[in-house]
Amino acid sequence: MNATNTYVKRVPPIVEADPQAVFDLLQRQRSFFANGQTLDIRFRQDQLRLLLEAVQNHEQEIIDAMYADFRKPAFETYTTEIGFVEKEIRLVLKHLKKWAKPQAVRETLLNFPARSYVYSQPYGVALIIGPWNYPLQLVLNPLIGALAAGNCAIIKPSELTPATAKVIAKIIQSVFDPAYVAVVQGGVSTTQHLLAQRFDYIFFTGSTQVGRVVMKAAAEHLTPVTLELGGKSPAIVAEDADLGLTARRIVWGKFMNAGQTCVAPDYLLVQEQVKEELIEQLRIAIQQFYGDTPRHSPDLARIVNDRHYERLSSYLRDGVVRIGGQHDAESRFIAPTVLDQITWNDAVMQDEIFGPILPVLTYTNLNDAIAQINTHEKPLALYFFSNSKERQQRVLKETHFGGGCINDTISHLINPNLPFGGVGESGVGSYHGQSSFELFSNQKSVVHRGTWIDLPLRYPPYGNRLAYIKKLFKWL
Ligand code: NAD
Repeated sequence: MNATNTYVKRVPPIVEADPQAVFDLLQRQRSFFANGQTLDIRFRQDQLRLLLEAVQNHEQEIIDAMYADFRKPAFETYTTEIGFVEKEIRLVLKHLKKWAKPQAVRETLLNFPARSYVYSQPYGVALIIGPWNYPLQLVLNPLIGALAAGNCAIIKPSELTPATAKVIAKIIQSVFDPAYVAVVQGGVSTTQHLLAQRFDYIFFTGSTQVGRVVMKAAAEHLTPVTLELGGKSPAIVAEDADLGLTARRIVWGKFMNAGQTCVAPDYLLVQEQVKEELIEQLRIAIQQFYGDTPRHSPDLARIVNDRHYERLSSYLRDGVVRIGGQHDAESRFIAPTVLDQITWNDAVMQDEIFGPILPVLTYTNLNDAIAQINTHEKPLALYFFSNSKERQQRVLKETHFGGGCINDTISHLINPNLPFGGVGESGVGSYHGQSSFELFSNQKSVVHRGTWIDLPLRYPPYGNRLAYIKKLFKWL
């Protein structure tokens, strides 16, 4: 494959699934779950080991598929998809036994004699719906959590990255009985059909708009949901930040995957006095990373489809292009672009950008920056660049966001010990590592009462025990 080739392959589209086949599959998964096999921790570990092996064995196919879908560079496919998934499986294999044990909690003397535990129990059959932008890890990472917790699962990958969706199906078919884990391919109508069924858990990653559709459908059956959504994540740069380092870290997080990352810095909010210097440093970083002609860089993905290309290229009419701006419809290429003189009224500021375009807005003082953030929806991520501990604390305390970094972008996702998720319009629930296990488990609270004594205090007739009971409630 020629790395500097600007051509993007047109992969045959995914066809919608047969509704009856989907229904039958769900019934088979219900029976499989009911037979109790997934309750065995060894079974879950064995299945996760098989998944790990299968991902390893299909590494080159995954890389080729993502290159075909949107020319994703092999380095990014490994670090943000394959390696990410493998790391998650290894972590789960290491800790699953401990996580799955009933967890003892402190006792209350009001229950004396007793011991209390939280039992983690699988929900049953989980539905996992994925987006196209990290098409592998955003279905396999939730799957790892679902299987670790002992569920069966149906995965619906995005139809917009058809080559990757096919490899995902191949991987899953190569290791799992479809009665346990299966892939259903299709687009909107297939997803709607799946959502009309009764699942025991729904895990959705995608846009806020479709998140609403999913939550409404889940409400019909009172099915618990996790919604991993998007939003406009700011990168705020204070006057005391190290601007060279800041620029490199922003350029890395913004233009990886050609900006098609849910936690990419959507826009820059920079203290007005350092704006020019920051733009200069962004120019240097973009040039260092992608060269003089980013179109020829092997390290820059393409826009996923023509619709998104049209939407993104229309933003180039906003404000003033300070860096980049070159674009080409045939290869769905848009150069890393920085737009200056942008206001909140511009089209580029109305929705999540999800592409390699970085608008620059300014603020006067930190109150102003915080007010600008807080007058908009709560973002999935927020990045604050400053060496002042006091400013860092203020931003952390006074703004709401799913997760983020001080003096970096995106790296909060890299640590599996940090739960990952949004808040408000950017999502409901969080996962990764142990949080995934807990998310896909019903945490069943159980009191084991001793039988060697049966204090009669709580039983009627209550007589004149109330005053005594009140004292007891205060003491215990
Ligand atoms: P999308 O919401 O358009 O699609 C996601 C899934 O929903 C796909 O599988 C699709 O087939 C299905 N779908 C689309 N329209 C539907 C409808 N009307 N009814 C039922 N199902 C429907 O999202 P996308 O374009 O694939 O992904 C981009 C979005 O996902 C961005 O907003 C991004 O921020 C968000 N995202 C969030 C995270 C996260 O972890 N929070 C990660 C990646 C992407």
